[in-house]
Amino acid sequence: MSEFSTLLADVKEQILYLQELGVENFAVDLPEILASPTSNVQSLKSEISREKLERFVPTDFEIPKIESARPKITAAENNSARQSLLESTKLSRLPSLPKRNSFLNNQITEPARGKEVPKNTLLNEEVPQVSLFGDLKQTLPEANETLEDIRAFIGNCIRCTLCESRTKIVHSEGNRQADLLFIGEAPGANEDAEGRPFVGKAGQLLNKIIESIGLKREDVFIGNVNRCRPPQNRQPTLVEAATCRPFLLREIAVVRPKIIVVLGNTATQNLLDTKVGITKLRGEFQDYFGVKVMPTFHPAYLLRDPSKKREVWEDMKKVRDFLNQT
Ligand code: URA
Repeated sequence: MSEFSTLLADVKEQILYLQELGVENFAVDLPEILASPTSNVQSLKSEISREKLERFVPTDFEIPKIESARPKITAAENNSARQSLLESTKLSRLPSLPKRNSFLNNQITEPARGKEVPKNTLLNEEVPQVSLFGDLKQTLPEANETLEDIRAFIGNCIRCTLCESRTKIVHSEGNRQADLLFIGEAPGANEDAEGRPFVGKAGQLLNKIIESIGLKREDVFIGNVNRCRPPQNRQPTLVEAATCRPFLLREIAVVRPKIIVVLGNTATQNLLDTKVGITKLRGEFQDYFGVKVMPTFHPAYLLRDPSKKREVWEDMKKVRDFLNQT
């Protein structure tokens, strides 16, 4: 049933998207969909009989008008937002995730004969790292912008539907020359009201975690994958995360920390482009373009299960030791 609710949520999201594109209706070839071996509908068939499904998805499906609370947007605003989105996703502006190797494209050559190709265990793919010019290490691209440029670029963002219910956009904050950067998931109620990340109960616990390794909140940089609060504090959808994440990645390229601590599943999976869960990844350093990444549990999870604080303390000691060595 939860698969079914996810599918419904996806359909609603797609409908809103299609409406934005000006599509008003489309014909569904149900027999063809049902016959497709890759169709989601196939997996649903085990739960819902074909007959019920046919009632659920009529063959000439009129896209329902979903009343949106979104403020009316003029055509000019709409065009400028689309332009911004296109601009923000230009590869040249983005530090790509490790899988894509985009800014190494011209440099990767065959691995030297006899040398073993190192495996990127996290992504389980082969990453050639040896070139004619010696060993290549993936590093963050130079940022030719400031945090203010990124903030101005985000503007009064309407790129995803989270803008409809937010009170304030919650931008990253902290020391712009920080060695240590924390990433959370998305603002909660307190953050949404104040417009600052991690100011609620989870934030107070995060402050204590920072102090436990001899630092102050003002020493570090703190951001979230999403800058607008999802309704009922639900997890951001893949589309919402993919829309907002580029701004954080650009900030990372500006701040250039020595270590990034990713708090919980959403932050870990979005930064490292992996589906592996936090329980498997926590406690071991990972890599994001030459920057050490420590996945650990989210402070909100520690509030629900304080026994997990011990693991977070172990992870933070590794972070502290690395910072003290460099
Ligand atoms: N949880 C998060 O992930 N981020 C915040 O800013 C607050 C709570």
